[in-house]
Amino acid sequence: MDSTLVLYNSLNGKKETFKSILPNHVGMYVCGPTVYSNVHLGNCRTFISFDLIFRYLQHLGYKVRYVRNITDAGHLENDADEGEDRIAKKARLESIEPMEVVQRYTVDFRDTMAQFNALVPSIEPTATGHIVEQIELIKEIIEQGYAYEVNGSVYFDVIKFNKDIPYGKLSGRNIEDLIHNTRTLDGQSDKKNPQDFALWKKAEPVHIMRWPSPWSEGFPGWHLECTAMSTKYLGSQFDIHGGGMDLKFPHHECEIAQAESIHKKSPVNYWLHANMLTLNGKKMAKSTGNNILPGEMFSGENSIFKKAFSPMTVRFFILQAHYRSIVDLSESALEASEKGFQRLIDGISKLERLPIGDKTSDFDLVKWKNKCYAAMNDDFNSPLLIAHLFDAVKYINAVDNGLQQINKDDLKDLSKLINDFFFDVLGLLNEDDNNKENGGVQLDGALNLILELRNKARASKDFETSDLIRDSLSELNIQINDTSEGTTFKIN
Ligand code: AMP
Ligand code: ZN
Repeated sequence: MDSTLVLYNSLNGKKETFKSILPNHVGMYVCGPTVYSNVHLGNCRTFISFDLIFRYLQHLGYKVRYVRNITDAGHLENDADEGEDRIAKKARLESIEPMEVVQRYTVDFRDTMAQFNALVPSIEPTATGHIVEQIELIKEIIEQGYAYEVNGSVYFDVIKFNKDIPYGKLSGRNIEDLIHNTRTLDGQSDKKNPQDFALWKKAEPVHIMRWPSPWSEGFPGWHLECTAMSTKYLGSQFDIHGGGMDLKFPHHECEIAQAESIHKKSPVNYWLHANMLTLNGKKMAKSTGNNILPGEMFSGENSIFKKAFSPMTVRFFILQAHYRSIVDLSESALEASEKGFQRLIDGISKLERLPIGDKTSDFDLVKWKNKCYAAMNDDFNSPLLIAHLFDAVKYINAVDNGLQQINKDDLKDLSKLINDFFFDVLGLLNEDDNNKENGGVQLDGALNLILELRNKARASKDFETSDLIRDSLSELNIQINDTSEGTTFKIN
């Protein structure tokens, strides 16, 4: 096990050497999507960043339990516990069941992540599947004296909690600032203080997503589900918690308070936050309309870019930036990534047919390998790793052109390392292979269909049609053979 992995912990703003709670095992929780709309590319950036982290931890030999939830209830329109539930609202607008909304966008999310070649997490729990656990959690928080009930709703008492355990550790906000900056309640709210947040909300008569509880028929607060599910599957203290930077406050801060109010210890050792993807210099977001869907990028059907970009080009573009830097999506940057990605693919494809020399290789492979690991061990520095891969491809091209040489053992090692870093760790794919494979399957299917139609024509003595099919295929250099076992084809 490589023990030199260093990662940036948002909890203290420092780079720290990673040490897992259990040897060789990692528990990682990442806040998943709220499935009320198609995921936009900004959401995907965060999930691709954690896919890289998941892949690298596994590459280092850790057995990773990666939990990424699906938020299918409780996420209201704004962070102040007000507004409609996002999923219920969508269901109302489209006159469908909330669970139809959930199903549609969960499928979209999974399909999209598969197109980006992201690995499936170990567990993908849903908020609605964990209502019982959330109710139990609320009971425990009330028992500890940090929550109160008003008119069927239950709120977390931030001021009381802060008297015993400091609130605001992750976001660096102190309670005085929060009190100063939060707008005063308008008299409509049941909260004692505006900083308090909902653990359980009594459902209004129009609210269709509701469950029975000791306090009212209602629904859980959004922050609660992540505490319930992370504790259930990873324990009261686990290794890594991730999400987008915008979730630091209030979502993750509230998660910490909920967990600490019961267990009196920090629930997470390393908090990791992926930075935002911007479009036209502004955060990509569903609510502002400043966003693009992955599917629109792949098809080219959008008003932002002149051409289509493939899933691997977009993944490569995302990985060319460090996960903690802001990235702006632009046509020129995507085009540069497309070119760079193709250069790497072309170089890597040459590995199989490189001439083998018998002298010492003109490349210090051990040094290069160490540099690749050093990059990834330094807080998952994928752009640096990619720069090293470009160096390797430069060397491969030089060998291919007869300018430098590589010996048999080094070629074997280099091929293995490139396979590890490019395909396994960065999760990139050679789309040419894919296209060929997919095209091949489709072509086979289409030809078999044509042959079946020709056989039908022959059976009904429609020789004009059957001959036309044979001759037309022949013109395309596809040769048909009628044998006693059936008809076969051969593409010349
Ligand atoms: P949501 O579905 O809104 O709960 O968001 C799902 C994930 O996407 C969260 O981890 C967000 O932090 C993340 N996210 C939202 N907008 C962006 C963006 N523009 N760039 C990167 N990540 C984002
Ligand atoms: Zn969460």
